[in-house]
Amino acid sequence: MTTIRKVTVLGTGVLGSQIAFQTAFRGFEVTAYDISEEALAAARDRFDKLAATYREQVEGAGDGKAEATAAGITRTADLAEAAREADLIIEAVPEVLSIKQDTYRKLGELAPEHTIFATNSSTLLPSDIKDSTGRPDRFLALHFANQVWHFNTAEVMGTTETDPQVYQAVVEFARAIGMVPIELHKEKAGYVLNSLLVPFLNSAMALAAGGYAEPQAIDETWRIGTGAPAGPFQILDIVGLTTPYNILVNSGEDGKKLADWLKAEYIDKGKLGLASGEGFYRYNA
Ligand code: NAD
Repeated sequence: MTTIRKVTVLGTGVLGSQIAFQTAFRGFEVTAYDISEEALAAARDRFDKLAATYREQVEGAGDGKAEATAAGITRTADLAEAAREADLIIEAVPEVLSIKQDTYRKLGELAPEHTIFATNSSTLLPSDIKDSTGRPDRFLALHFANQVWHFNTAEVMGTTETDPQVYQAVVEFARAIGMVPIELHKEKAGYVLNSLLVPFLNSAMALAAGGYAEPQAIDETWRIGTGAPAGPFQILDIVGLTTPYNILVNSGEDGKKLADWLKAEYIDKGKLGLASGEGFYRYNA
C-alpha cells in the first residue's frame, strides 16, 4: 500500500495553487512546480491571497496557520527537483493535450517508481494521457472543483489499467485533505458533476433564448420546485459566461445557436458574470 506524505503539484494557476494550498493546509509536505521564476512569483501571490481567504472562510485557519501554510509550500521551476521525492504528483497544467503528454513523458523518467500521477484535467480523459506516463497502472484522474475549500468534491476516475490499490490510496488521500471523494467506476467525459450540470445549464439557456421565460423566472422555478439554493442562471454567473460559451460553440448546431445568443445578449455587452459585476444578474462592486 502506498503511503502518501509528500505531494507535488504541477502548475500553480487557478486550480493548482488551490490544490497545493489545501494539501499543505491539511499537513502534507507540498512542492509546487511551475515553468518560470515569473510564474513562481505569481504563485506566491496566489498563496498569499488564498491565506487571506482561508483566514476569513475556513475554520482553524486563524492564529497564523493560513500564513504559515503559504510560507511552507516549496516552490520550484526545476521539474527534476519537484519530482524527486514525491509520493503523489497532481498535475494542473494547461488543458492542452500536447502539454500534458509532454509533461508526463518527462515525469515518467524523473519520478521514483512508486510515485502516483493524478491529472486534474476537466475535459480530457485519463486514457488520452496514460501512455505518456510510462506507468499507466499508477495513473488516474483526481478532479477538483474551483474553490476547493468550499466546493470540496474530488472526483476520482481511473482507466482500465489503473491499479485498484493506487485508486484506493488516492481516494483516501482526497479524504485526508478534506475533500469528499466521488468514486467513478469507469471513464466518463465530464465526470459526474459536469455530466449533470452542462445539460442542465444548456436546457435553462434554451428556455431563455427561445423566449419561453425570463432567466429570473427560470431560476425561481428551479429554487421553489426543487428546494435548491440557486437556479441555473445564478450558477452560470458564478462560473462566468466564457466557459459555457466555449463549450457551446464546439457542440453542434443547437449549441452554436445558444452560443450566438449568449455572445450577442451578454458577452458582447461586457456581462460576463459575477466576476465582471454583471451577468444575468447585477452585483454590487
Ligand atoms: P491556469 O491557466 O490558471 O494555470 C495553468 C498553470 O500551468 C499556469 O500557472 C502556467 O504557468 C502553468 N504551466 C504552463 N505550462 C506548463 C508546463 N509545461 N508545466 C507546468 N506548468 C505549466 O489553469 P487552471 O484553470 O488552473 O487549469 C489547470 C488544469 O485544471 C486544467 O487541466 C483544467 O482543466 C483543470 N481544472 C480547472 C478548473 C477551473 O475552474 N479553472 C476546475 C477543475 C479543473
